[in-house]
Amino acid sequence: MTDKIASLPPVSEMMRDCGMIAKKQFGQNFLFDLNLTGRIARSVPDINKIPVVEVGPGPAGLTRALLLAGALRVVAVEMDKTTEPILSRVADAANGRLTVVFGDALKTDFSKFGFNEYAICSNLPYNVGTELLIQWIHKIANGEKIKSLTLMFQREVAERIIARPNYDAYGRLSVLVQLVADAKILFNVPRTAFTPAPKVTSAIVQIIPNPDKIKKLGKIENIEKLTAKLFGTRRKMIRGIMPDIDWTMFDLAGTERAENLSPEKFCEIAKKVLL
Ligand code: SAM
Repeated sequence: MTDKIASLPPVSEMMRDCGMIAKKQFGQNFLFDLNLTGRIARSVPDINKIPVVEVGPGPAGLTRALLLAGALRVVAVEMDKTTEPILSRVADAANGRLTVVFGDALKTDFSKFGFNEYAICSNLPYNVGTELLIQWIHKIANGEKIKSLTLMFQREVAERIIARPNYDAYGRLSVLVQLVADAKILFNVPRTAFTPAPKVTSAIVQIIPNPDKIKKLGKIENIEKLTAKLFGTRRKMIRGIMPDIDWTMFDLAGTERAENLSPEKFCEIAKKVLL
């Protein structure tokens, strides 16, 4: 099933053959190391049981690793049309397991792919990574069956995702992710693993949506508004930002700052306060 994928020429050679070079405007930093792409692909839970949506296959380094790891199906959404000759060659070798969709992932409704449930895996373009993650959190909160997200972020963003209250990295992203899912950093990826090399270290983050958390959530839009408001001036006391609220209702003095409130506290407040 994977023979034809394994016998394709190396990714760098396929790029050279069709004159493809990395473009900054698409956030292109490619992975060529088979050990690394294999490790990422094997981290995707149930890869052989549920379809995977990959954002930004580019010249298909990670896509090929997903297929080699036994992916049941891969739908890859790519914005850069110049990758077409490479991606169609990989799709030919994948015997129907790979479908490539050209377009902006930010504007693509993954539910239209017709899967009951799916996983997301991506070496995300750094310029839209956070925006995509926030979109997916909204979808998860609204019942879309995304079973797992295995994502490459800059290490600093990865730390924000998993940060706990009272830490500098704790913020809006931590609250939103942790209210719908369990998240952890799987491993770091040095800048030298990419071509071209970015300025900073990256990390693979795994996010597993948690149905028990989602059930208790309430309206994600309200939580998002509340986090934006309170973290907007994160050094200010919450009673200074929202003076009309009786904070004792939430067992708070009002002298706390956004960074002191747990994700669950944000959820509790957002359910009761009109925003
Ligand atoms: N997956 C490849 C790899 O690991 O070598 C490429 C990863 S590169 C960091 C990000 C990829 O996302 C690029 O191929 C880029 O063209 C694509 N991309 C950037 N913005 C996108 C968007 N809004 N929608 C879909 N793909 C996008």
